[in-house]
Amino acid sequence: MRSILKVNWDSNLPIYAISQSELQKNGIHSLLLDVDGTLLNRKSNMIPKSVKNWIIESKKLFSLYLISNNPSKKRIAKIAKELNLRYKYNASKPGKKVTLSALKEIGSEPKNIAIIGDRIFTDIIVGNRCNIKTILVKRLNKNGLPIKFNLTLTIERLISYFIK
Ligand SMILES: [Mg+2]
Repeated sequence: MRSILKVNWDSNLPIYAISQSELQKNGIHSLLLDVDGTLLNRKSNMIPKSVKNWIIESKKLFSLYLISNNPSKKRIAKIAKELNLRYKYNASKPGKKVTLSALKEIGSEPKNIAIIGDRIFTDIIVGNRCNIKTILVKRLNKNGLPIKFNLTLTIERLISYFIK
């Protein structure tokens, strides 16, 4: 169990505070990005300016790809279009199938790819199942700021502790 729950970088930061040079130092060339909670609040349609700027900078350095479990093609396609990124919706993380097809498109070596997400039981597990690096970030609220208390993650951490 331990290996599929492994978080390579438990950042305790919102995505826009993740250092691109730190990622480069760790050999990252490509990033799979979760959408809801990670780039914007799932109840919001507005991508925070801080996130947009982070994406713009990251695009200069990495190959980016959105990978969302959200079943709404309309929502994820709109976000992907706004950021001008490739995407998968309805990805069924921690199922591997859709994520593997995105990885195939990206074409980098697994050791040079990381997934960034706000959940252990979807983003982190699928990352480990696909042998890529895993980065946990803070969930964003409707104002684009990291939420102070994340109940989902707290429960996931608790369960992880017991199943380790
Ligand atoms: Mg999420």
